[in-house]
Amino acid sequence: MAVLNYLRTALIHHKHTLMMEVLKGHGLRYASLLHQEAYIGGKWVSAASGKLFPVTNPANSKVIASVPDMEVTDTEAAINSAYEAFQTWQTTTARERSLLLRNWYNLMEQHKEDLALIVTAEAGKPLSESRGEIGYGSSFLEWFSEEAKRIYGEVAQSPASSKELFFLRQPIGVASMITPWNFPNAMITRKAGAALAAGCTCVIKPAEDTPLSALAAVDLAEKAGFPPGVINVVTTSRANTPAVGKLMCTSPKVAGISFTGSTAIGRVLYEQCASGIKRIGLELGGNAPFIVFSSADVKSAVEGLMVAKFRNSGQACISANRILVQEEIYDKFSEALEEAVRKRLTVGDGFNKEVNIGPLININQLKRVERIVNESVAAGAGVVLGGKCHDMGDLFFQPTILCNVTEDMACFQEEIFGPVIALKKFKCEEEAVNIANASKFGLACYFYSQDVSQVWRVARRLESGMIGINEGLISTAEGAFGGVKQSGIGREGSRHGIDDYTYLKYICLGGIN
Ligand code: ADP
Repeated sequence: MAVLNYLRTALIHHKHTLMMEVLKGHGLRYASLLHQEAYIGGKWVSAASGKLFPVTNPANSKVIASVPDMEVTDTEAAINSAYEAFQTWQTTTARERSLLLRNWYNLMEQHKEDLALIVTAEAGKPLSESRGEIGYGSSFLEWFSEEAKRIYGEVAQSPASSKELFFLRQPIGVASMITPWNFPNAMITRKAGAALAAGCTCVIKPAEDTPLSALAAVDLAEKAGFPPGVINVVTTSRANTPAVGKLMCTSPKVAGISFTGSTAIGRVLYEQCASGIKRIGLELGGNAPFIVFSSADVKSAVEGLMVAKFRNSGQACISANRILVQEEIYDKFSEALEEAVRKRLTVGDGFNKEVNIGPLININQLKRVERIVNESVAAGAGVVLGGKCHDMGDLFFQPTILCNVTEDMACFQEEIFGPVIALKKFKCEEEAVNIANASKFGLACYFYSQDVSQVWRVARRLESGMIGINEGLISTAEGAFGGVKQSGIGREGSRHGIDDYTYLKYICLGGIN
């Protein structure tokens, strides 16, 4: 056993050195942010089994690190420590929690370049986008450090002079968090910031593709002064994820779960939460329409689409997916779009300064994008640009424009999650709104119009949790992020982001003379 432990530590150390060398070559300053152990009860720990799983750089498929492949017993330990920590954490004042969140925010800001390097190394994002994500991620800590102090209760009017009625807003308890790989930092801070502000403790399971960003963020939370057990990170491979996820939903010590990911997995978690009647927040898939009406400013519509489509190579749940262009301006818009895509996108390794389109995260995503494009072309879509895997490496896809798309095609029915634009012409407002709403998803919608009446009519009618009007970039800590229909339940960010982590306790004080 001792020999095994020694070998394991030696292996971890060796991998650590490799990763450090790679990232130092790119300018990493604080190697202490790189962890290859999980974080439970204030300690950096291995899996009880000693097993590890590899983390790869999607730009070249090289292994850059190995992290603990945790199982149900490790997760139980994390939940226990969060449960124990909650007993005191819930008694802290909002100001104390606010100051710790502010410390964490300051440390994230100080280390943003290093955190961005880690995101690019494991998620493949162009470095400029990784920097953007860290700024976005830390803004949730700043926001919730402020919101912590603004969680109010109420005093209600009593029907009897012998009674007073109060509603207290209290933390729900231990919150489980399961996060995706496409925003490996921000999806953690958006949840944990709100939960911690409310007085909850958390157990975080990052996506298996991107655990290093979670561990780096939590390293800074530890340095910020959060007590042991208040934040825990369980790393686990895809193989162990279903069992770990099930415990995170069903443990009697867990009060609620927050998930960002696919609708298919969201549905599984929702079902698993039913037996224990747990609180649940779900940020799921989308199939965002992007409508360009004939009154639109074509130049800004093209700019908006470039951002809404190509950010993170299209791997975002609010990515523009179904592009609808009114017939009068279709030619003008599609020509300007083609020119922008041809001239402004450079595919490659995210560490290369010129690059603004990185690889897809893994082979499953690449195959999915390839299948959607092939099926759409076989069904009659035209290829204006791209349409194939890129020869830059194993996981790259060419920026693509498809035209003559019809509603039944795969590129309109499914969330593409890749750098593919699917264009469809429409005749009138009614038709565009009907097509936009003909989806089981309702996360984000975008539309461009200079007609004020149309702006209000359409904004009201679109079945969507979020709408960008003459704007392609809607994400911000101040905004209420979330969907309707099968895109999810609950809102993250804004003052509403706290709601999932608190409940109202009604107190009736009687016997008053
Ligand atoms: P994607 O297919 O893009 O990876 P997923 O919804 O599958 O999207 O993954 C999002 C997150 O959900 C990841 O952290 C992943 O590990 C996790 N996950 C996947 N399957 C399960 C499951 N059965 N139970 C709990 N979490 C899961």
